[in-house]
Amino acid sequence: MRRFAKSFTQQEPISEAAIEAAVAVMRTGRLHRYNLVEGEKGETALLEQEFADSLGVPFVLACASGGYALQLALRACGLEHGDAVLCNAFTLSPVPGSIHAAGGEAVLVDILEDTTVDPDDLAAAARESGARFFVLSHMRGHIGDMEAIVSVCEAQGITLIEDCAHTMGATFDGRPSGTFGKVGCFSTQTYKHLNSGEGGLLSTQDPEVMRRAVIMSGSYMLYDRHLAAPAPETFRETRLVTPNMSGRMDNLRAALLRPQLAELESRKERWNALYRRLEAGLAERALVQTIPRPDKEDFVGSSLQFRLPSLTRDQLARFISGCEARGIPLKWYGKAQPEDYTSRYDSWGYLTSTRPLPNADRILATLCDLRLPLTFDEQDCDDIVQLMGDAMDQATDTTPNV
Ligand SMILES: *Cc1c(COP(=O)(O)O)cnc(C)c1O
Repeated sequence: MRRFAKSFTQQEPISEAAIEAAVAVMRTGRLHRYNLVEGEKGETALLEQEFADSLGVPFVLACASGGYALQLALRACGLEHGDAVLCNAFTLSPVPGSIHAAGGEAVLVDILEDTTVDPDDLAAAARESGARFFVLSHMRGHIGDMEAIVSVCEAQGITLIEDCAHTMGATFDGRPSGTFGKVGCFSTQTYKHLNSGEGGLLSTQDPEVMRRAVIMSGSYMLYDRHLAAPAPETFRETRLVTPNMSGRMDNLRAALLRPQLAELESRKERWNALYRRLEAGLAERALVQTIPRPDKEDFVGSSLQFRLPSLTRDQLARFISGCEARGIPLKWYGKAQPEDYTSRYDSWGYLTSTRPLPNADRILATLCDLRLPLTFDEQDCDDIVQLMGDAMDQATDTTPNV
């Protein structure tokens, strides 16, 4: 049997420019972000400033991870212990985990056919729970109907926090993802759009939220060493009433990220070329339903989702193992036991939310997911389509063996 030989988890190497920048930091020994010499701005503060400019917002904080950015966002927005926090039923485990870590109780919201959050169910969940916060995941890079979502949040007095782990570089209606809510949270973990191993970025236009986030992230009263934060003299009150919950980014990671940030736009084009190629190939298969991409959504196609709604569970299981045998590790969200990156809400047993989620149950049952690392080319996409097609033919073949 023909097998696809490349790895779906192999990212591109770090560029020479980024390696040199990181080595230069190591030569100074000043890895801690606040360890600066006279007149030095530091890689972390420069990264924050450059990322803020790219989003068109005044404030950005670099921190330890995307999940940590989410925790910080909730705390900085005033979450109190036991508060209900809305989140998509279809998201990744660090999202409910961050809500839990910040002391909140996650309340799950159902999804629409295109896997984005259902604004009507959002309104219903808000009424039922009285939640004042919503962590909106642009899960797998799909941006929902932001007008409808924002208007539900405004009508119900809900603070919107965007989880942009899969939408760094994406826009909706010309506006960068992460600038619709009070706070935007991004990840620079290896499988996202920039790679520093681990890392997170938090963006906001709200000076008090930013002051709290800076102090909480562990600024040791050195907040004057930020370039994309409110003026130091405005910290006078906040600094004495805000706990330190260390989770800073360091200069080494920031040095790796700055040259990558400059490449984000070209990465996006390369990702989307792969995405469109794979999508076009899959669209020729009658059983495959790809997820529609609205005109207003300018996405970054670093992964691709599709549904096989007419297949039985047995056929789906055969298809998945047929892909596996051909070197294609498809993620199937309908699998009984969570594996690898878990995105099934029923595997987060610590949640107390018991809302019925009929769409999420039905849609996730036949939803599949492929990562698209930039180490692939368009020929690889064609090979993947071909091999998945073979696996599908085999899985759905009803002619008896003779
Ligand atoms: C990766 C991811 C996060 C958090 O990222 P980490 O940096 O790994 O903490 C949050 N939400 C989603 C949807 C993600 O995929």
